[in-house]
Amino acid sequence: MSNILAVVESFNDDFKKSALEAVSYAKAIASNNSGTCIVVVFGSSNKAGTLGVYGADRVLQINSNIPASDNQSMTKIISDIALSENAGMIILPNNSTAKGIVGRLSIRLKSGCVTGVQSLPEKDGADNNSIVVIRSVYAGKATAKVKVTGPCIILSLASSAIALNTTGNEVHVENWDASTTNSNIKLIETKRITGHTPLPEAELVVSAGRGMKDPSNWNIIEDLAMALGATTACSRPVADSHWRPHYEHVGQTGIAIKPKLYIAIGISGAIQHLAGVNNSKVIVVINKDPEAPFFKAADYGVCADLFEVIPKLTESVKKFKHSNA
Ligand code: FAD
Repeated sequence: MSNILAVVESFNDDFKKSALEAVSYAKAIASNNSGTCIVVVFGSSNKAGTLGVYGADRVLQINSNIPASDNQSMTKIISDIALSENAGMIILPNNSTAKGIVGRLSIRLKSGCVTGVQSLPEKDGADNNSIVVIRSVYAGKATAKVKVTGPCIILSLASSAIALNTTGNEVHVENWDASTTNSNIKLIETKRITGHTPLPEAELVVSAGRGMKDPSNWNIIEDLAMALGATTACSRPVADSHWRPHYEHVGQTGIAIKPKLYIAIGISGAIQHLAGVNNSKVIVVINKDPEAPFFKAADYGVCADLFEVIPKLTESVKKFKHSNA
């Protein structure tokens, strides 16, 4: 079997969990098929060699400062490497970069692509050019088995779909001189979100909705999030009303997350909201309406006025942390 490419980006000299998952996933496929896991790294990083710990057999550091928004140039570089390294599959984390390049790669490499994959590929009978993978559909209400064909299939991996493999060793980093392209895409400005763990990476999330009544009340949500060491999120109408920034909006049209703990405060639990959070390991719902649909999806429910409960909960968390420090 040919080699498997994983394509990752470094952020602040480090790699996000989703990037490490893409490497472990690519390694699992390579191992099952006696192939080599080759990781392509965009953005300079002193830690590129550590990707070997997560499964990289080889690491190719791209020697060119191409911004992630230039998906035209990234596509050309990745497809050049795929052809030169005889890659049979390309794996990316299912992030905004993947959204920009998966379709382009598919056309260039004349191969099928699937986004948001949740399982390792299975062979499709005796057909060596096709695989079957599982992905989520209908806003998380169902899964679909998808058959995909081509000499170099492209998959983007859903966040937290697989466990990290950390049994490998650091590897030597090879430099890859990317030929410059005349891209039609120019980066004008990048504004990075700072502070909290970004939502797709967060293990603890405190989220609030229209039940908060007014943006000036959000201090109680931030206090709870701070006490827990959690990232804040919100429902769509809250972001649409500019009560909270859009990067906090979770759901079908927002970010899909899979934290260990999701606390939903004053959120009704509409299907479009649940679509982005129902893969959370534990869901706690705080709502004063006992008929709120969110209670049906909750592991724990508190039917009460949030303005009474949240400050008490925050105090309890602080006391617990203090006495267990
Ligand atoms: P509401 O529905 O107004 O609910 C507020 C809740 O707060 C109520 O359950 C109420 O009982 C509770 N509450 C009020 N006061 C208190 C109090 N003092 N204490 C405790 N509880 C209280 N929504 C998303 O969130 N994400 C999406 O991605 C998304 N995508 C959409 C896509 C489409 C195509 C459409 C049509 C809609 C989408 N929506 C999305 C909107 C969604 O349908 C709901 O309208 C929205 O999620 C409701 O937000 P909410 O729960 O904050 O507000």
